[in-house]
Formats: sequence, structure tokens, C-alpha cells
Amino acid sequence: MTTSRYARHEVLPEIGQEGQERIGKGRVLIVGLGGLGCSAAQYLAGSGVGTLILNDFDRVDETNLSRQILYDSRDVGELKVDAARKRLNLMNPDIRISCLSERLSPATLLSHIEAVSIVLDGTDNFATRLAVNHAAVKARVPLVTGAAVRFEGQLSVFLNTGTGPCYRCLYCDEDEWLGNCQGTGVVAPVPGVIGTLMAMEALKLLLGLDSALHNRLHLWDGKRGEWRDVALKTDPECLDCQA
Ligand SMILES: [Zn+2]
Repeated sequence: MTTSRYARHEVLPEIGQEGQERIGKGRVLIVGLGGLGCSAAQYLAGSGVGTLILNDFDRVDETNLSRQILYDSRDVGELKVDAARKRLNLMNPDIRISCLSERLSPATLLSHIEAVSIVLDGTDNFATRLAVNHAAVKARVPLVTGAAVRFEGQLSVFLNTGTGPCYRCLYCDEDEWLGNCQGTGVVAPVPGVIGTLMAMEALKLLLGLDSALHNRLHLWDGKRGEWRDVALKTDPECLDCQA
């Protein structure tokens, strides 16, 4: 492995060579390779996260290309995980990338999450999000989660250390979920912004750096250009936190 690839990381006192080695030992599962997952995966691969596990059962569609930046016109019809792996491998041949191109059962999801340092959720489906949360809470693996719709984005990091809150504490009800607006559209850079921040939070977790986003909800109004921050509490009725 060349050292020059990560020189701009290694010169930072918060990272250094030791921190870069920690990033290199990181194993990150990315569930969902839409706009959020593409954007996050690109920076995690570029940053040298040693193992990326990509999960998506969808194929590239022309309507994805405005914002799902790992794909181009030649990839239409191909499995997203295969197209993404090809692009990420070109960007950084030193990392390992494995692909899961099926919808994971709860048991399989749990076994994959138990084997990673961090899970990123960029899916557009509430049932999958609850399943990922359930497994991450059970495995006590940090969950970095984002959503993007219209001009709005949101982002949270749940540490899942056993005390809550968790993603389910935030959304016991699907109707409250921001992403529950399929077909309503999204401005292309919004998932790019949120996915990039998901990668940033994942790197900070690998480095052991603290963050104001831990167990908080960060909301972005892209139309106004404003951020808002909400503290999250553990829901005493939460099924996952009680388990
Ligand atoms: Zn909970």
C-alpha cells in the first residue's frame, strides 16, 4: 500500500498514521446504494476504509443517474452493487469490497452487522430501516442513518451502547418518517450532502472522535440553507431498546 494516497489524512494530528491504520482496519456495511449510499461509499472508499460491504438488490435505472454518483449511463440494467464495486475499486484498489445483492433476512442481517464496526443505512424503505436498527441495537454496533427527500435531509448517529436512544425511539410511526414520500422527488445534491456527512461520521467513529451528532437528529432545510438540531430521548416503550 502506498503511503502517499492518504498523506492529507496522515498530516492531521487527529488522524496521523495510527488513525489511518484504524480506518484501514474498519469494516463498514452500507445498506442501500441509492443517492445516500453512493455518496457515502465514495468517501469511505477514498479514505481507505479497509472493508466495505455493499447491500442492495436493485438494478441501476436511468432515473437514478441524476444523484447516484457511482453509476453512469453504461450501468443501466446492472446490479447496483456490481456497478458500485467496479467504480470504487477503480478509485481505491487497496480496499476489500464485498457485495450482497439480495434482500437480507433478519438473521442474515444480524450476522453481517455483528461482523462490522459500523452500519450505514441509506435505504428508502421504512421496514428495512427498522430491521437494520433492530439488528444494530442487538449487536451493539453504531448506526449512521440518513434520509433525503425534496429539498430536505436528515442525519443521526446512534451509538447503540445499550442505553438508547435508537432509531426506533425516533420513529415508532412510519407516517412521521421523512423518507416516507416515495415519488415526491428529491433535488440531486441533497442525498450527496447527507451521504457525505454519513461518511464523515463513520470515519469519526472509526477514529474514536466525539461528535455533536451522537444520539441527536440533525435536520437540513436545503431550500433555506438552514440546519437544525434536535436532542433525542430513549422511548420507554421502544421495542428494540427493551429487548
Ligand atoms: Zn429505542
